[in-house]
Amino acid sequence: MTRTGLSDTIAAIATAPGSAGVGIVRVSGHRALEVADGLFRGKRRPSKTRGGRFLFGDLLAADGERLDEGLVLVFRGGRSYTGEDVAEFQTHGSPAVLGRVLARTLELGARLARPGEFTLRAYLAGRLDLAQAEAVLGLVEAQTEAARRQATLGLSGALGTRVARIGANLTRTLAALQAMLDYPEEGVPEEDRELPLAAARRDLLELVGTARAGQVATRGARLALIGRPNAGKSSLLNALVGFERSIVTPLPGTTRDYLEAGLELSGVPVTLVDTAGIRETGDAIEAAGVRQALNLAGGADLVLALEDGSAPREALPAELPPGARVIRIRTKADLSAAWTDPGALDVSAVTGAGLPELREAMGTALLGDVSRGEAWLTTERQADAARRALAHVDAASALPDDLASYELEEALGALSELTGRDVQEDVIDAVFRNFCVGK
Ligand code: GDP
Ligand code: ZN
Repeated sequence: MTRTGLSDTIAAIATAPGSAGVGIVRVSGHRALEVADGLFRGKRRPSKTRGGRFLFGDLLAADGERLDEGLVLVFRGGRSYTGEDVAEFQTHGSPAVLGRVLARTLELGARLARPGEFTLRAYLAGRLDLAQAEAVLGLVEAQTEAARRQATLGLSGALGTRVARIGANLTRTLAALQAMLDYPEEGVPEEDRELPLAAARRDLLELVGTARAGQVATRGARLALIGRPNAGKSSLLNALVGFERSIVTPLPGTTRDYLEAGLELSGVPVTLVDTAGIRETGDAIEAAGVRQALNLAGGADLVLALEDGSAPREALPAELPPGARVIRIRTKADLSAAWTDPGALDVSAVTGAGLPELREAMGTALLGDVSRGEAWLTTERQADAARRALAHVDAASALPDDLASYELEEALGALSELTGRDVQEDVIDAVFRNFCVGK
């Protein structure tokens, strides 16, 4: 699908719908400058301009009517985003102006671009790898600082560099294994054989370990607060968010429906979900609330399990979802302690004591101890390829030399999929389907 019509000249409105100070229509392809000549009238013709120049003038309809005045920016093939000739028209950013300018580009021989087609062309021209194309999408969609930072790193090719380092070590191992098979009597030193494989495995483990942080940074995280009625969930949610969001009442079992509130932690958007109190109950409405609470907790990236520190301790009556990440919290730390537990954080929603420590623990639990300066795996597609590479490397480590080579080649294949050097067309389609038109 993505490979048809690639020699067409394409056009799209590149700016967001609605009114804005400035809007951009972008045209790419071998006829882009012809289209620009037909649409634009100024002191110079776009096709007679060197690349990288702005021209100021009028944008005209077919009958000569002036649609708007504006700028055209010309890029020459080879030095543009797509690698093709590109003309970008900057006009006043209204739907009426942009719609007419776009329509005129179509009359002049362009066709409407498909979602992500500009970036697809950049990818096919070898100007971006697939992980960089995903980073472009990440930058367009970045809502938070963590998402922006990772997308910028990804676009710079940092993920590709990380992957290439692993690939180089696997290739060295393969060469050593080949040498051993070809010249068994000569022997291959350990630094050529085991060391690069061990380094590749360590780097891959580290890389796979970034997938969680990368996805949390990109899509945000869901946190569930659970605990018996009256444990202090609503109060803690309000304290974390900084204003009254949930209903606080001294009557146990009052928060029957769940409430959500958003905050930002370490640059990650976090949605806090205050669940109904969890306890064994005969009350049907409350039982439904409890089930819902457990479901929410099961789907959460992190569970905050609250227990009232001012009352005799009762075990959490419900099992925590298996595999869930949990921070245990002893609430109401401003009151005299009825119990203590070194495994729980002491927090008071009333005085704010323990809140900074809790925020810190939440950030660590969500992002793990991944290095911030390095590129993370930010999409499930990337994470899947990295995990497959790691599985093949693990298999190779446990096999005799002749069979190990096969696994190493499979691992290299998975790595080149990660950066998109060796991928099926449907994978490429899936990546670009998520783009907006105009990028
Ligand atoms: P929930 O049922 O788990 O949502 O608990 P709430 O947040 O509604 O709190 C239950 C009761 O405990 C209310 O009377 C709160 O004022 C009180 N409470 C909650 N947190 C604290 C705290 O940190 N210190 C004190 N002293 N009281 C608290
Ligand atoms: Zn509550």
